[in-house]
Amino acid sequence: MGMNHTGVFQDQQFASDNYAGMCPEALEALARVNDGHVQPYGDDPWTAEVCDLFRDLFNCHCQVFFVFNGTAANSLALSSFCQPYHSVISHRMAHIETDECGAPEFFSHGAKILLGEGENGKLDPECIHEIVTRRTDIHFPKPRVVSVTQATELGTVYTKAELQAIQYAARKNQLKIHMDGARFANAVAALGVQPRELTVDCGVDVLCLGGSKNGLAVGDAVIFFNPEHAQEFAYRCKQAGQLASKMRFIAAQWLGILKDDIWLKYARHANESARLLEDQLKQIPEIEFLCPRQVNSVFVTMPQAVHDALHRKGWHFYTFIGHGGARLMCSWNTTEQAINALVTDIKAAMA
Ligand SMILES: *Cc1c(COP(=O)(O)O)cnc(C)c1O
Repeated sequence: MGMNHTGVFQDQQFASDNYAGMCPEALEALARVNDGHVQPYGDDPWTAEVCDLFRDLFNCHCQVFFVFNGTAANSLALSSFCQPYHSVISHRMAHIETDECGAPEFFSHGAKILLGEGENGKLDPECIHEIVTRRTDIHFPKPRVVSVTQATELGTVYTKAELQAIQYAARKNQLKIHMDGARFANAVAALGVQPRELTVDCGVDVLCLGGSKNGLAVGDAVIFFNPEHAQEFAYRCKQAGQLASKMRFIAAQWLGILKDDIWLKYARHANESARLLEDQLKQIPEIEFLCPRQVNSVFVTMPQAVHDALHRKGWHFYTFIGHGGARLMCSWNTTEQAINALVTDIKAAMA
């Protein structure tokens, strides 16, 4: 928040959904658990309550753990399935490959990520079979897990049928399924399905459910749908420095947003904001769209001079994600006013 150097008041950005603050429900929930003394490290009543809420939400006896961010969630979840000689199959643009500084390899002590392809950031199930059968000898890291990102790094979503095709390829090759759900809420909201339909029903073994892009301050959930896979996972979290001593403050935030489906309300808002932004940008003939908009981001190409003009006006956005171009992303509290301000500045820069 603040003045940009041309003196225009700018309190919102479109660089990423983690620019936004905490939603009021999560913030208020912190105060509600602040009184009194309770047991640390997750042995408090609110952590128990939120784990039960997740079991209701997914309608199964899942095991839930909280860590501080998505990188830790993904890396620890993957390492729980992988020996150092294993490999993880993911899309070439997956966050675990491009944006986690080698943490999945580090925490698994060497498991390798094998890159697959697919349109619009979605892993093609054919690639899974191709990678697994390409080499089956002892010199090649043995495939163990398929990782999919829902919603993807390109702001697209896997349909239930597409996930079932992934499941079929994974099971045929004895692979576990990991889902990076940094924006799972946006995918559920966009598809209008039950969370279970995109996870348990598609054979997902572990979901890393993001909180910070959905209105929390911190605290991603690692959800194992088969309790056997969760054995000793708590030790992994602790050893990695990911066990919060005052766990109640992570749990409370989730209680704040899971109640009355507030997490989905905000995800829907972010998605709708991106739709509005896309509609307005479509009126500018020079702008090209790089992939279908399905959740809360719009990927566009604009002339470099326009990027420069927008940066001079104080706008932040990323140009290194996916195919390049500019990624414009909306959040749980993006306002119409901010969208209008951005579009006005883009139009001015185009003129
Ligand atoms: C943001 C994000 C994450 C988590 O990133 P952290 O900064 O480690 O919390 C994971 N996967 C995807 C696809 C993301 O966009």
